[in-house]
Amino acid sequence: MKIFYLILSIVLLFGTYLMLTKFSESNQNNYRIVLIGPPASGKGTQAAFLSEKLNIPAISSGDLLRSEIAKGSPFGKELENIMKAGQLVPAKQIAELIQERLKKEDCKNGFILDGFPRNIEQAKILGSYGIKINTVININVNDDIVKKRITGRRIHLPSGRSYHLEFNPPKKEGLDDVTGEALVQRKDDTLEVISKRLETYHTQTKPLLTYYKENDKIHFIEVNGALNIKDIQQSLINQLHENNKTQH
Ligand code: AMP
Repeated sequence: MKIFYLILSIVLLFGTYLMLTKFSESNQNNYRIVLIGPPASGKGTQAAFLSEKLNIPAISSGDLLRSEIAKGSPFGKELENIMKAGQLVPAKQIAELIQERLKKEDCKNGFILDGFPRNIEQAKILGSYGIKINTVININVNDDIVKKRITGRRIHLPSGRSYHLEFNPPKKEGLDDVTGEALVQRKDDTLEVISKRLETYHTQTKPLLTYYKENDKIHFIEVNGALNIKDIQQSLINQLHENNKTQH
């Protein structure tokens, strides 16, 4: 009988420990993360991983815009044309969608922004809402790799889950792992549009890296996006933990 109670106590203690470590990782640090990287650098994949690991929501500006398009409104049509041309939608419009999303309850312990801000103007708008970013993750990938990856990407539109035919295939061909629904190729994931999207990234988004690097309140993390998904995840976790050590 004593043994039974001893084992039960150990199991309970271990369970509490696991809960507390997960809780403390997400709550104490209040991670307010921005993910930066060129198209198809793996931002969405890593955002989903971090969201699960840190127990905070991942918010993709591209997904927010695509759900506006799915509503079929004239505003959605306008957005679709801009996105198909590989350009940025006006800052005010995307910033308002982000602001609304950040007001939701699930963001109060932190969040991961994937794809916003995408230029210095948007970063300033975010700051003007009183939202202070504390971690910036830059995923480095060169243009040649982006071009090789882009045509193999498939997404599950309702959730934004992203796959790659070669590097991250779904369990069943053409179907989302979670819902079993059909995967699609994005209209802007073509070789023609990607050149324009890369140009937009280099001219507008890259200057954001210097902008955030100069802010010494921000923990700036860099990962090599050409590595495989698991190695990138490991590097991210190591670097996030490194910063915890220096803070405590
Ligand atoms: P993504 O899903 O992040 O690759 O974004 C797809 C497209 O949505 C981009 O090429 C832009 O046209 C538009 N978009 C996404 N995020 C933003 C943003 N923060 N500012 C302006 N346009 C954006």
